[in-house]
Amino acid sequence: MHVERNYINGTWQPAARGATRTITDPGNGETLAVVADSGREDSVQAVAAARAAFYGDGAWRRMSGPLRAARLFAVAERIEARARELAVLDSRNSGKPLREAEADVADAAACFRYYAGLIGKPQGGVYEVGDGFGPMHAYTVHEPVGVCALVTPWNYPLLMATGKLAPALAAGNCVVLKPSELTPLSAIALFRIFEEVGLPAGTANLVLGAGPEAGHALAASDDVDMITFTGSTRTGQSIAAAAVGNLKKVGLELGGKSPNIVFADADFEGAVEWAMIGVFFNQGEVCSAGSRILVEESLKERFVERLAERARALRIGYGLDNPDIGAIVSPAQLDKVLGFIERASAQGARLVCGGARVIDGACGRGLFVQPTIFDRCTPDMELVREEVFGPVVAVQTFRTEAEAIAMANDTRYGLAGGVFTADGSRALRVMKEIRAGITWINCYNPTFNEAPWGGYKMSGYGRDLGVHGLQEYQQIKQVNINLRPGPVGWYGK
Ligand code: NAD
Repeated sequence: MHVERNYINGTWQPAARGATRTITDPGNGETLAVVADSGREDSVQAVAAARAAFYGDGAWRRMSGPLRAARLFAVAERIEARARELAVLDSRNSGKPLREAEADVADAAACFRYYAGLIGKPQGGVYEVGDGFGPMHAYTVHEPVGVCALVTPWNYPLLMATGKLAPALAAGNCVVLKPSELTPLSAIALFRIFEEVGLPAGTANLVLGAGPEAGHALAASDDVDMITFTGSTRTGQSIAAAAVGNLKKVGLELGGKSPNIVFADADFEGAVEWAMIGVFFNQGEVCSAGSRILVEESLKERFVERLAERARALRIGYGLDNPDIGAIVSPAQLDKVLGFIERASAQGARLVCGGARVIDGACGRGLFVQPTIFDRCTPDMELVREEVFGPVVAVQTFRTEAEAIAMANDTRYGLAGGVFTADGSRALRVMKEIRAGITWINCYNPTFNEAPWGGYKMSGYGRDLGVHGLQEYQQIKQVNINLRPGPVGWYGK
């Protein structure tokens, strides 16, 4: 079988040790591809290529902004031209419903366009400064950081890679991407597009392999100037520790256990549907998932009953058949999700609906879990404290606004949160108190390339997307100009 390879210094090449990994469709167990399984030495080689490209002739960073932008606009066009192929790859590789994969592809193209446009907008500033040494003038320029390593997870394979590649490249960096070893296929297709649009050799490099080897080597390398990572909090901690040697810049987009607060005055059907989007979108494999629903006590019975009624009606199935809930990405993730369900019951939460693997008919060949709702959850329960990353939600109740806020913030995470209420002032009051980086009022989970994305607390630091997302990949240089050249007369006064 053909082996998909690494892309280093403008050429496709096998892993140095010749190792390979089989990529499987979690929806039916079929083999999708065989890809290079890289080790440390491949990451070292990719970093060397990026370094030579950045610090050598610097073709990419020296290219004018408009020319760099033109290449990135071309990437966006080609992503759109191959939208169907890319969506099918992500749907089959990760298990997600096709229409969700299609939305990801559209977003990925828009992301390249956004940063191609942004790089041409005014950046930097001009400063009035003190005149202790005579008249001076200062300005700032935004420059690329250098060699950026980008490590991404499996839940949004194309989109997570794009959200880092587009700003990093727009800023003029040279990059090494290591996608999740479970879902590398759309990244490979994207790098074929990079090859077609003609990024200078070494500008964008792709290493396919596992985290502890290929990924760790990037985090630990003294030749990497910045590492940005999206993934679990535990891996983020190990990356931050490995990165300390050369004090490289670090960006971490990590896990969450986000509260979705529903007051009794909220639009009822809207709150139910958004709560479902909050926790069942992408099979619940969403970092910002509203996986803790905090509902006002007086509404609780009616709310949970309706939520369960609608959850039971969700269509579970193979991604390309466009179900509501697709396959869980891997056997290990399936076991993890089922383990959480088992322990939640054992700890006294009440199973309202779902709670099992789906084994009927064609689903039996894949990794499917029923959308699952637990109520009567208490703050000490594992289901309330830990991220499941699957279609499982914990429902708790509150009586007062203050109690809702305290419960919402009672977590080590701070990625996201939502509030549903018809009282606008209350919505804003609650939002002001929520310690999280991404929040929604009367909706849950929509995300935008234009707005910064990132967490508080143990959900990480730094921001992807928006203007902030570009600035993460830039250094700011201060340039001071003496307006009156000649002797200063400082010494010998
Ligand atoms: P993960 O941490 O297991 O892996 C993420 C990536 O890190 C993969 O590419 C993996 O190969 C690599 N990796 C693993 N160990 C490594 C190491 N020691 N050194 C360097 N790289 C290593 O996460 P996952 O299971 O792929 O993704 C799920 C997690 O990602 C969830 O916790 C979820 O909340 C989080 N996530 C966060 C966001 C966000 O924007 N905050 C978005 C998506 C996913």
